[in-house]
Amino acid sequence: MAEINKQLFSEDKNWSRKLEKEIEKHINSLKWEFNPNSKKRIFSLDTPPPYTSGRPWHLGAAAQYSKMDMIARSHRMLGDEVLFPVGMDRNGIPVERYTEKKYEIRMRDTKREEFISLCNDSLNELEKEMLEILKSFGYSGNFDDIYRTDSESYRTLTQSTFIEIWEKGMIIRGTRPSNYCVDCGTTIADAEVEYKELETDLVYFYFKLKDSNKKILVASTRPELLAACSVILVNPSDERFKDFVGKTALTPIYGKEIKIMAHPSAKADFGSGAVMICSYGDYTDVMIIRELGLKETIVINTEGKMNENAGDKLKGLTVKAARKEIIRLLEESGALEKVEKITHRTPMCERSKTPIEIISMDEYYIKVNDIKDKLEELAHKLEIIPEQHRQILINWLKVSSDWPISRRRYYGTEIPLWYCNKCGEPYIPEKGKYYRPWKEKPPGNPVCKKCGGKEFTGDNRTFDTWVDSSVSALYVTKYLSDKKFYEKTYPMSLRPQGIDIIRTWLNYSILRCYQLTNELPWKKAWIDGMGLDEHGEKMSKSKGNGIDPTIIIEKYGADAFRFWAASEAMTGSNFMFSESRILGAGKFLTKLWNIARLIGQFKYEDTNIDTKTLEKSDEWIINSTKKLINECREGYSDLNVFTPANKIREFVWNVFAPHYIELVKGRAYGEGVSLQERDAARYTLNYVLKNILLLLAPISPFISESIWLSLYSQDSIHYEQLPNKQDYDEELASLGEKLMDFNSRVWNLKKDKKLSLRDPIKIDILEDLAPFKKDLSSMHNISK
Ligand SMILES: [Zn+2]
Ligand SMILES: [Zn+2]
Repeated sequence: MAEINKQLFSEDKNWSRKLEKEIEKHINSLKWEFNPNSKKRIFSLDTPPPYTSGRPWHLGAAAQYSKMDMIARSHRMLGDEVLFPVGMDRNGIPVERYTEKKYEIRMRDTKREEFISLCNDSLNELEKEMLEILKSFGYSGNFDDIYRTDSESYRTLTQSTFIEIWEKGMIIRGTRPSNYCVDCGTTIADAEVEYKELETDLVYFYFKLKDSNKKILVASTRPELLAACSVILVNPSDERFKDFVGKTALTPIYGKEIKIMAHPSAKADFGSGAVMICSYGDYTDVMIIRELGLKETIVINTEGKMNENAGDKLKGLTVKAARKEIIRLLEESGALEKVEKITHRTPMCERSKTPIEIISMDEYYIKVNDIKDKLEELAHKLEIIPEQHRQILINWLKVSSDWPISRRRYYGTEIPLWYCNKCGEPYIPEKGKYYRPWKEKPPGNPVCKKCGGKEFTGDNRTFDTWVDSSVSALYVTKYLSDKKFYEKTYPMSLRPQGIDIIRTWLNYSILRCYQLTNELPWKKAWIDGMGLDEHGEKMSKSKGNGIDPTIIIEKYGADAFRFWAASEAMTGSNFMFSESRILGAGKFLTKLWNIARLIGQFKYEDTNIDTKTLEKSDEWIINSTKKLINECREGYSDLNVFTPANKIREFVWNVFAPHYIELVKGRAYGEGVSLQERDAARYTLNYVLKNILLLLAPISPFISESIWLSLYSQDSIHYEQLPNKQDYDEELASLGEKLMDFNSRVWNLKKDKKLSLRDPIKIDILEDLAPFKKDLSSMHNISK
């Protein structure tokens, strides 16, 4: 600590990364263990366990995490016992893809055991790097007790919660049309689908009518699904097709009989006005086939290739190749009219950025449809900051449906189920243990309840990773393992997260925790906006426009980065990356650094100070500091770091430095004043600086610690409390305004007269400002 105590008095006139590096070890050695037996009020955060995959994090994510850290730090300083866990989300497709790339292997061609072990190696490396980044910007989570979603204890929780809701009847098995990503080789949830406008072919071709020479022109973007066509729809008000409704048509090439029906979902102004409904080109197809009770025909297999139902000519081709081939076949048969280029809203897999297919697969689903009303009620009950983001959750709930949770992947929490070899009846084990059915026998030699069979085969699928991460609040509050701890900490105080995972993490966490505990997992949710690049585009790994936070932190320092993150945008608003604004934040910190270097010279004996002997200017700045204290306390209490950051900067830059320090500099040096007057200035300068440091500590923990230890204490500022709420004198404040106006007037006058600031000037001091007369005369060198 000795080095830190001297940092302020070194040669360094700029606050910099170099100085931060010198104290990084110290900052990260401070302990942030949570004491469940504390008498203090508990403040617990259900922080997002960052996803461990590939090069971790862009700057937007680092900014979000640093703001969460400010919330945790400020609540400690507000007197709370803070539970601020560090978690790592390690399950799922991204790490599998990363591992495939890194070792140049394919998951499905590698032994499961071996693949899992390679994923684990990748994860350990990536995690190390992520933890280093977190520490580099002073994240104050409990690093001694990191939780990992792939650990035995976490997976036990995931499986146990599944077993619990299975027994409550909240899981259904079904073969339903679901989003299927061929690239990822698995079913995906609606929440993981994104839409992109892509150019595609709209193909016009004729169906002949069965009992006449007439033909009907149909337009489709998915002609390769022709073998799966089950009806042709036209709009009931479309006069062109009046005579066709009720007739039977024959599919070209295949010659299958198809009914022509009137249905409002057919749009007269799209294509030819007649559409073919296939299983499944899009969600309209799913809806219509369900509504009309039609039989589905599956023509695409899970590898994204056409199967035998598509006929010999297409069988084995990829969807893309089949589309080309069917156009050729239609042309050959004379059924093709034309091919038009259009842009089409295409559903894409959020992870692999490839178009999804809709395929009927045998999956497990968590029931959502049955409890949608309740979920909506909970969504209204939860306090959401900022309020306007609530609507995103509500809108999503309205369109969401049962959640498919089984995945055909390797690196994930296993579905804890076995099936009777004789009759297929599922066997589910007791909760409280971690099971791997793909390699283990069911525990305790079970007998099939239905047929008495004794042989079982394990399910080899895993869960959607959101099944794991949606119970993070239950994991950190020890739902399964420590009842006393759980009762003390659940529901948690806060879920902080980004706006981009409302549909997934926020939504699924509410659903899962409600199913298990009958209540909301937290009192509040704090939803931050997204980091945008310099052109206002959302930063993302796939776009390649993500800025590496480590480069920025090395260049400008963690404190400057954090101060920028806090001061740039209000909670919930997007924030645009700007190197010049981060540089600006650094300049502010250097300003504060130099103020501290100046004030550091002014020692005084505390015992000599009787606050009744303070000068009017001292009283004024102390009063202004009190206002700042109240504003910052209020901001921090409301989980708002934007207000404290901006108020502190405004106060230091525009009030304290130019007005007060200039006013009393001479007095602090003891120029022509009594010892008492001198010490009053010295006392006040230190009073203000001390409070600024305390208020700034949650936002910029390095510089505040460095100055604090250099000047005020042997003990860390981060173990201090924020100053209490203060009584503030409005009258004194308005007098201060007049004082500052007067200063500005003198500066302008000197500027007009081309005088330097130290040159003498003749000017009358207003009667109101008489109490400041001595300081003002010294500051402006006012001649009598
Ligand atoms: Zn995918
Ligand atoms: Zn059986």
